[in-house]
Amino acid sequence: MRVCVIGTGYVGLVTGVCMAEIGHNVICVDKDEQKIKMLFNGKSPIYENGLEELIKSNVTNKNLVFSTELAGAIRSQEIIFICVGTPPLPNGKPDLTALDEVSRLIGSYINGYKVIVNKSTVPIGTANRVKKIIKENLNGEGKGYSFDIVSNPEFLKEGEAVYDAFFPERIVIGSENPKAVEVMKKLYEPLIRQDFSYAVNNINRKSDIPIIITDSTSSELIKYASNAFLATKISFINEVANICERVEANVLDVTYGMGLDSRIGTKFMRAGIGWGGSCFPKDVRALAFTAEEYGASANILNSVILVNNYQRYKVIQKAMDMIGIIEDKIVAVLGIAFKPNTDDTREAPSITVINKLLELGAEVRAYDPIVKSCPKEMDPKATITKDVYEAVKNANLIVLVTEWPEFLNLDFGRIKSLMKMPNIIDGRNMLNKSKLQELGFNYKGIGI
Ligand code: NAD
Repeated sequence: MRVCVIGTGYVGLVTGVCMAEIGHNVICVDKDEQKIKMLFNGKSPIYENGLEELIKSNVTNKNLVFSTELAGAIRSQEIIFICVGTPPLPNGKPDLTALDEVSRLIGSYINGYKVIVNKSTVPIGTANRVKKIIKENLNGEGKGYSFDIVSNPEFLKEGEAVYDAFFPERIVIGSENPKAVEVMKKLYEPLIRQDFSYAVNNINRKSDIPIIITDSTSSELIKYASNAFLATKISFINEVANICERVEANVLDVTYGMGLDSRIGTKFMRAGIGWGGSCFPKDVRALAFTAEEYGASANILNSVILVNNYQRYKVIQKAMDMIGIIEDKIVAVLGIAFKPNTDDTREAPSITVINKLLELGAEVRAYDPIVKSCPKEMDPKATITKDVYEAVKNANLIVLVTEWPEFLNLDFGRIKSLMKMPNIIDGRNMLNKSKLQELGFNYKGIGI
């Protein structure tokens, strides 16, 4: 089938590559010329394991094309995916500027029956909003053409996006029109059959991927409610971790004991410095905003956000407990990305922690295996180092913020000898506490 993907960010690029790999003819469009230039040269503008290889092979197979020219792509393709960003406005409402702009353009370029698929995470009622804008912008010969809107939210996890795209746990299709649903089912058929070569060669391929067919409003809510629930699980266990610290219990044992109950499970029950990224913060805020807008309550959602904000500052409190006044102390921060295996730093906990440490007068040296420059929200006074050992030289404290697997294999004997004071806050409870204590570290985790 002929597919156009608008927006080649984390969602659009992975979606486009996945659609090409399962046999469709895909044009990925972005207005960012730099991104398209990189993609032309076979380079991925984002870091996702395995993505670059798939881009190259599908471009070679001529299933995948990149372009900045939207008009031609809309005219030639039958299914149009909208994958543009919906970042939060200061009041928590998602900014739909890019989505509105794209809808206007789609309207003005339509030249036949098209299925317009919204993959961006959007507030309730956006399917109708897109429909209205497209209708208003149909012009000239376009007025005789028809189109349908589908809500098809994306559930990929950054860092595992390629795997998630090929082996999703569910596909949600929200539409008021059975014709559009049939088009979507046909589009996803190879994914359901799992008979494309990438799946056949993968021992972890899935069988029985469920397709949920629903109305567009329920589909939009499935996405928000899923992310809000995952964020709730993390905030919940962080609150339990804080209780553990007061009563001298161990949150790792508590979580394990709880998680063996299959109704609870252990996933997303890791106590730590809290959630961040481009999705959870904005989606929880947006759902709370929607609740209030429609006269429903958002008590849990608002608490989930509060607990998460508190968790980041709790690390600063722990730092003060360990090294006293922060001013003029050297703090090494391990991890900048909001989670491992991605270069995404949007709303990363590292930014809050580093900015606060700098505000309190510390010298901050940060290291991340992938992020090699200061994110724009981070105070540029932070120094980004080339490795961990450079970051910890003469440091009074290490704060581990992102659980990159390589941090498990660090030479902590060498690290201790380089530091001024062997203090460590393990914001992800990933290191071996007793081993570090044996080495002479003063170790603090979260709830342990
Ligand atoms: P992103 O910022 O990485 O990418 C968005 C892309 O859209 C950018 O490359 C931008 O240049 C492009 N764009 C904006 N306006 C455009 C226009 N008029 N024409 C062409 N291109 C345009 O965003 P993302 O992380 O891929 O997220 C996209 C959407 O998917 C958001 O709503 C997000 O909430 C949702 N989502 C994200 C994830 C994730 O893990 N990142 C997961 C699920 C859902």
